[in-house]
Amino acid sequence: MERKRQLTIEERQTIITLKNGGLSYRETVKKVMVSVSPDNEEPFYVLNLDSLLKRHLRWITNLPRVKPFYAMKCNNTPAVVRMLMALGIGFDCASKAEIQHALSLGATPDKMVYAHTTKPLSHIRYACTHGVDVMTFDSEDELLKISLCHSQAKLILRIATDDSKSLVRLSTKFGARMASVGKLLEQAGELGLEVIGVSFHVGSGCTSSLAYKKAIADARLVFDMASLLGFQMKLLDIGGGFSAIGDFQDKFEEFSGVINEALDKFFPPDSGVEIIAEPGRYYVESAFTLAVNVMAKRVVANEVDEQNSTYKMIMYYITDGVYGSMSCITFLVDDIPYLSSPQAVDGSEPRYPSVIWGPTCDSIDKITENYWLPELHVGEWLLIDNMGAYSVSQVSDFNSFERARFYFSRSSPSPFLHFRFPCSLCSGCQFEPAGGLQLFWQETEILCVEMTGLSLSLCTY
Ligand code: PLP
Repeated sequence: MERKRQLTIEERQTIITLKNGGLSYRETVKKVMVSVSPDNEEPFYVLNLDSLLKRHLRWITNLPRVKPFYAMKCNNTPAVVRMLMALGIGFDCASKAEIQHALSLGATPDKMVYAHTTKPLSHIRYACTHGVDVMTFDSEDELLKISLCHSQAKLILRIATDDSKSLVRLSTKFGARMASVGKLLEQAGELGLEVIGVSFHVGSGCTSSLAYKKAIADARLVFDMASLLGFQMKLLDIGGGFSAIGDFQDKFEEFSGVINEALDKFFPPDSGVEIIAEPGRYYVESAFTLAVNVMAKRVVANEVDEQNSTYKMIMYYITDGVYGSMSCITFLVDDIPYLSSPQAVDGSEPRYPSVIWGPTCDSIDKITENYWLPELHVGEWLLIDNMGAYSVSQVSDFNSFERARFYFSRSSPSPFLHFRFPCSLCSGCQFEPAGGLQLFWQETEILCVEMTGLSLSLCTY
């Protein structure tokens, strides 16, 4: 790998080593809080690198026939993209900029799907000139655009699904209805376009495995229709929708069982059909913990409840919010379930109903209300786990608050991750390995990632 610039002195100083001493990941996050930001209240993420790898191992164990193409839109942090690339994962890109980003980090066009059914013409042209041939469509107009800008494209017809059991529904916006599939295929044929397969998305955060089963059965019908029209389809893309946190904890295994059974029934291995998926949140959701600082507080002492008694309610204003990396909380059905106060060590401490606001001037910027917390003080931190999906990729510039920074960690001892010094790829590592030390560094400095067997080696310099 080409060697890039040296770290500046300041950057080196932000790299801290912490004594491992059997610290859990959570304790490590707390250490970062006090060590990295004693006088800095800006939000930051700690990314547990092992988590990405563990999720991948769980994927290949449970869905051995399904090749993942990670949905970049979910979280395009370079370290995430580099690690997933080293694991051999492909990418689902939804725009010219996502294709550019993936290419700039070393991804190759043959491992990309341009998985957006409504694309600007200029983005289709960009895909064409950069060798990204596989793309989705669900309408006649999209076929016309593609025939103008990328007539050699390999097309995937996206069909609508029953997404009524998903946190985020997508089939209201995308996907051809089964009744219009025949016409679309005929039109593709008339335009001389090649349709190589079918895709669907059951909606993000899908709670019903039956949605996959039905969509796979529908895809089979489309394959059969296409075959009658002279197309030789060879790709099935089962989209995203997977999660494995909270209520979804064990669903991944259950879903995989149902999916494998449906695949074996409708697309058995000897059918020669390649199966891919576009998982987003599954890979990154649990890898990121967000630390936010209480930057302001307002005690409302005389709130009155239904019994006419007064009680104390506390409003907190924290350094990240709905306009920052927390817009994803609007997807959640319950109150944010993964929020905790590292200061609250004593379970018997009194707790107060609290409202948590983001930092901007807008009242929509509310993270939660009526959340029972022990009293926090200005300057203290709150932690929110499982913040990897649709967080950092959705930050806006409203009120120009600073974006959350990143620190990286691995659980220790990690059977999966090794820090390689010096690195065989760049030979430029600056930091000595230190037995029993855990390393943190800033995002841009993860440069080399290499897969060896089932473990990954990383380096920085
Ligand atoms: N593919 C497409 C086309 C999407 O729109 C999305 C999410 O919106 C994904 C994949 C990723 O979905 P998930 O994060 O639920 O896996």
